[in-house]
Amino acid sequence: MSDISQSAIANLEKAGLGDILYKPEQKPYEERIASYWSLTAQLKPWAIIQPRTTKEVSKTLETLVNTTDCNFAIRSGGHMAWAGSNNIEAGITIDLGLMTTTTYNPETKIASIQPGSRWADVYTELEKHGVMVAGGREGLVGVGGLLTGGGKTFYTCRYGFACDQVINYEVVLADGSVVEANRETNPDLFLVLKGGSNNFGIVTRFDMTTFNARNIWDGNITFPKSATDTLVEAFVDFTKNLALNPDDHILAMWTILSQTKDHFITMVLTNLDGVENSKSLQKFLTAPGGQGNMTTTTVAKKLVDFLVPSGKHDTWFTLTFKLDARIIKKAAEVFESLASELKRQIPDGNFYISMVLQPLPTSFSRHSVARGGNMFGIERLQDDCVLLVAAVEVETPEISSQVGFPALKAAIAEIKSYARSLNSDIEFLYLNYCDGSQNPFSTYGKENIKKMKEAAAKYDPTGVFQTRVPGGFKISKV
Ligand SMILES: Cc1cc2nc3c(=O)[nH]c(=O)nc-3n(C[C@H](O)[C@H](O)[C@H](O)COP(=O)(O)OP(=O)(O)OC[C@H]3O[C@@H](n4cnc5c(N)ncnc54)[C@H](O)[C@@H]3O)c2cc1C
Repeated sequence: MSDISQSAIANLEKAGLGDILYKPEQKPYEERIASYWSLTAQLKPWAIIQPRTTKEVSKTLETLVNTTDCNFAIRSGGHMAWAGSNNIEAGITIDLGLMTTTTYNPETKIASIQPGSRWADVYTELEKHGVMVAGGREGLVGVGGLLTGGGKTFYTCRYGFACDQVINYEVVLADGSVVEANRETNPDLFLVLKGGSNNFGIVTRFDMTTFNARNIWDGNITFPKSATDTLVEAFVDFTKNLALNPDDHILAMWTILSQTKDHFITMVLTNLDGVENSKSLQKFLTAPGGQGNMTTTTVAKKLVDFLVPSGKHDTWFTLTFKLDARIIKKAAEVFESLASELKRQIPDGNFYISMVLQPLPTSFSRHSVARGGNMFGIERLQDDCVLLVAAVEVETPEISSQVGFPALKAAIAEIKSYARSLNSDIEFLYLNYCDGSQNPFSTYGKENIKKMKEAAAKYDPTGVFQTRVPGGFKISKV
């Protein structure tokens, strides 16, 4: 053990936090490491501390900041896949996984949500009160990371991003003080937290606006790859008309399971009001070869059942381009070549790749601006766009770093280069889908970069969240 690790652990114990501090040989430590979604993120810190209250977060932060040269990480749901985003090797991990309460105030219609909550639990609690918030779309994704990074939701077509629905943040700053950030109090901090990630403080409570919960009509329809052209045309058409049909939501997912050599496309279709066979989903519902299971359900019920399998070594990359059928078809071709390349380089064929396309029409940013705006800067975009996120999952860290990572990076570069050749590449990189080698903040626009830098200097004058919390995306690196 290094001197710094010994001092950090001794100082946390001296501060009375010993009962929530876990060291490598202890069972809760191993369980919390295993609960990271990706094996890639399962680094082994010196110790994990699990505060139960805002006061304990404050005391933890103060103690770690006062321990000379001790670095630390912040983790909520632990779903960000890249190593070091939410965890640390040489340091302490502050794990918010015990702060999981969701409460609803019927008078104000505000939901107060703690960062360690998982979205399935948030929705299950809120549906008891007949209300809903716009949050994550997978049951185990955490609240803290998704909301501080932005949050693409089922309801983005109606209300903008998840962070646009936050009306107040409770934040622990680097000096241990606890502040509120909303339109009236600390408005500059309020704004930069909408997409600015872990650069300003640790958010210990998100107050979100709610709306009435309704049944949804939802399901997955799976198509053979021969349906590509039909689905691409339908995707373009849907995205162009999304502002007129904000009750429908789609995800288009290309998947290759190498062991079975299957290549298929899954359309995840949702009508947010429970309307069956809605007009704007027709082209997907009637496309040839589709097999699916549309059903009436609720968001909470869907998410309790919908969990993306974890426990692999993952690489994620994202890209944005203008809505153009040619680029989507090119992306599908590149995806096919990526699979061939991985099959060649991974002889046991043990890998999984997926590429998800989502509409990013200009109406999304109009909803954000109407709610006060966020850090993305996508209101600058004049055209409807497509948000692409692709992932490669493999069995070992070596295959991941030597094969999965470079192959996926090259595939994304190829799609970008094709988009550029059509004058249709867009610089925007959505933070929550980025690999650690991408630099989302550099794409958020000069004004927003300035606002984030100024807020970081004002609320964290000694630069704790830039230097002592090295993980995640840093505004100082722009
Ligand atoms: C299966 C799956 C499905 C997904 N679905 C969606 C989706 O529908 N929409 C979408 O937008 N994204 C989605 N994502 C991406 C997801 O938003 C990010 O991975 C997000 O970071 C997850 O939140 P988390 O709480 O688990 O974050 P963590 O991995 O715990 O943390 C991520 C980052 O946020 C920082 N952070 C976490 N909590 C706090 C806090 N309280 N205060 C300050 N900083 C904090 C961490 O330091 C870290 O840098 C998905 C990811 C996966 C793996």
